[in-house]
Amino acid sequence: MKSHARVVVIGGGVVGCSVLYHLTKFGWTDVVLLERSELTSGSTWHAAGGMHTINGDPNVAKLQKYTVELYKEIEEYSGQDIGLHMTSGLMLAATNERFDWMKSLLAKGKYSGGEATLISAQEAHEMMPLLDPKQFVGAVFDPHEGHLDPYGTTHAYAKSAKKNGAEIYLHTKVEDLVQLEDGTWRVITNKGEIRAEHVVNAAGLWAREVGRMVGLELPVLAMEHMYLITEDMPEVIEFNKTTGKELMHCVDFDGEIYIRQERNGMLMGTYEKDCRPWSPIETPWTFGHELLAEDLERITGELEVGFRHFPAFNNAGIKKIINGPFTFSPDGNPLVGPVRGMTNFWSACAVMAGFSQGGGVGLALAQWIINGDPGFDVFAMDVCRYGDYATLAYTNAKVRENYSRRFSIRYPNEELPAGRPLLTTPIYDRLKAAGAVFGASYGLETALWFAPEGVEDAFSWRRSTDFEAVGREAKAVRDSVGLMETSGFAKYMVSGEGAHDWLDRMLACNLPEVGRMALAPMLNEAGKLIGDFTVANLDDEDFLIIGSGIAEDYHMRWFESHLPEDGSVDIEALNLSLVGLSIAGPKSREVLAKLTHLDVSDEAMPFMSVREMDLGMAPALVGRVSYTGDLGYEIWMRPEYQRYLFDALMEAGAEFGISLFGLRALNALRLEKGFGSWSREYRPLYGPLEAGLSRFVALKKDVSFIGKQAALEEKLSGGALRLRTFVVDAKDADVLGDEPISFNGEVCGWVTSGGYAHASNVSVAMGYVPKALADEVDGWSLEILGDSVSATLQPMSLFDANGSRMRS
Ligand SMILES: Cc1cc2nc3c(=O)[nH]c(=O)nc-3n(C[C@H](O)[C@H](O)[C@H](O)COP(=O)(O)OP(=O)(O)OC[C@H]3O[C@@H](n4cnc5c(N)ncnc54)[C@H](O)[C@@H]3O)c2cc1C
Repeated sequence: MKSHARVVVIGGGVVGCSVLYHLTKFGWTDVVLLERSELTSGSTWHAAGGMHTINGDPNVAKLQKYTVELYKEIEEYSGQDIGLHMTSGLMLAATNERFDWMKSLLAKGKYSGGEATLISAQEAHEMMPLLDPKQFVGAVFDPHEGHLDPYGTTHAYAKSAKKNGAEIYLHTKVEDLVQLEDGTWRVITNKGEIRAEHVVNAAGLWAREVGRMVGLELPVLAMEHMYLITEDMPEVIEFNKTTGKELMHCVDFDGEIYIRQERNGMLMGTYEKDCRPWSPIETPWTFGHELLAEDLERITGELEVGFRHFPAFNNAGIKKIINGPFTFSPDGNPLVGPVRGMTNFWSACAVMAGFSQGGGVGLALAQWIINGDPGFDVFAMDVCRYGDYATLAYTNAKVRENYSRRFSIRYPNEELPAGRPLLTTPIYDRLKAAGAVFGASYGLETALWFAPEGVEDAFSWRRSTDFEAVGREAKAVRDSVGLMETSGFAKYMVSGEGAHDWLDRMLACNLPEVGRMALAPMLNEAGKLIGDFTVANLDDEDFLIIGSGIAEDYHMRWFESHLPEDGSVDIEALNLSLVGLSIAGPKSREVLAKLTHLDVSDEAMPFMSVREMDLGMAPALVGRVSYTGDLGYEIWMRPEYQRYLFDALMEAGAEFGISLFGLRALNALRLEKGFGSWSREYRPLYGPLEAGLSRFVALKKDVSFIGKQAALEEKLSGGALRLRTFVVDAKDADVLGDEPISFNGEVCGWVTSGGYAHASNVSVAMGYVPKALADEVDGWSLEILGDSVSATLQPMSLFDANGSRMRS
């Protein structure tokens, strides 16, 4: 065994082998894979080997497309047969609701060249005669689906990597990992030790245990999963004979099953509601090439529906039942990337669809290790999308929920209940008593809207029961004053004598003077947006940064990995040790004034100023800024003061009819103002010019901030895209995000977010279009639930275009 390697990959399943192959493909050949047994000895060997390109997240869909397209390459390069069967596939809808869901899923893929199409149940039957068309209302046909041999595929990756110079050591179990002062890793195995610059955790079923070797509790859990294989079926043999083709894959969402041909019979698997975690606390190291006990009773309900939908199964004998474990994260997407707070420790685990996603995971991770950037927007599978609230028990609750809902519809306004409520702020009960309907964001219960007595959130693709109430909340802000909780925003305190200079390099904006705030884009080296913050200069050595709550770990990973080594800068994520309330609307200044003897007039406290002040008896930090685009204030306080301040503000606002508003009303308000939001309009896909943020990028400042060169180049070239707002001719449903945007009938852009802008009484979409078309006002159309609707580009923001409301 080698004594040193640049990268050690732990785990020889399909994911580890893909990572190894991609590292060598990009020229890193001093790389080693350690496997405690034989290759495929985790979940890989008993997989059904199915793969497809469709995913609810278009960025993950792209990586799946890459994976599927890679198979021919590795088969040819390695000379290893991977048993590839590109049969194509159907997704079947048994209800109209399901068909609506499929239309929205399909729309998401359109701008990235997805080739799937909607077809009728009868057309589906003609393609796949085993299904009973009377049971379905329609289907999606996807030409890029199929299945392969998991063993052959894993070996094809491995052989290709070896051909490029990688080494693979079998029967070599990693028993411990120790990081040395110089940042290198001692990888301690049962066969000796290897020193490595980078370690990749691709340990699949044991990824949690390998994480624990370095003190990590990764949010990953294995679930039992069953599929059955039938004896030969005459219907299958007949179809093969008459058409010369194999039967295609089917995912029957309402039956919660998937089927495909296996030799002369069929394979049927299910994601059952009555699901079972496997080894919820610790995966035994003794587990090897064995299967779990079959338990058909647990899946009888799903099988009955399956047999009804595919009647030929009723006459088929069952040859074999496979029950094996494989791993999931709480939302079902992989956990990929560098782990926050560690040097060169990489995660490539929780890949539940290794044969759809393994190639993309390997590609992203190899690029990340080699170039410091994955080369794509991979936030949907970034290991940093979970904070430390994602404990073992939380993961258990969420993974079980996710597994049992794998084929369920998730409505755009649906909040899933498992693992909640977990994090709450002191005013939670007060908000609840006022009718708050909560969603969970980064583990925190956050008010979405306030329901009148007797009204509940009804999940739908169309406008729903919250529509009137959200409208009232939004209008109350515009007409008088509203109050919302902002504790869910991420808050970072940057302090120290080096804080100013360091932030000047990290953020692309001019840093504000003491007592002022600024909008602060953050760029990566490639000049793409990796953050949009508000930064408040408290005293030149203390800066409060406010950002997106869901990106807290993501941003902390970036900040911490760029801290100077001399200790001159400290950064702390304040989490819920600082909580917030925001008041907004034309009467908000009067409300604030009632709680302080200080002058809060526009002259004394202008737009974007920040100051500490007592409000009533509570010390608070108050910034004059509001994401509503209106006159407004963000008020930050220690949690023990939040209830007092909430009551005080509500009392002070009573004479103006102060109204509580939630995240949905905030969304409506920011849309009509044309304000983008993190992870929708602003993400590492876009440059600041494209995103309309170039006025906040200080190209002239005398500091070479990260991404400056690339931002200069973007300015020179003009970028390729522009973010634009559209008024949409929508009827009873608004855009959700990721729908295609067409100009004169040609798809040329995509929606990033949208909804109904209640105070302006119009349906709004924001999205990216080619720069060359970005000044065209007419000729646009968008897709909503499969229908094309016309849209008009808005050159100016719909609300308060000159900003006088927030500035005066
Ligand atoms: C019944 C069933 C059906 C499935 N069907 C499909 C399907 O149709 N399509 C699809 O895409 N996916 C399917 N899957 C899921 C698929 O199997 C997984 O996505 C995939 O196997 C994940 O691969 P992995 O490399 O991450 O993990 P694993 O396959 O678990 O590999 C991890 C490897 O790491 C090794 N290892 C662990 N710890 C150490 C250590 N300390 N030292 C050295 N080596 C170590 C293990 O021995 C193992 O070989 C199915 C799974 C099951 C159970």
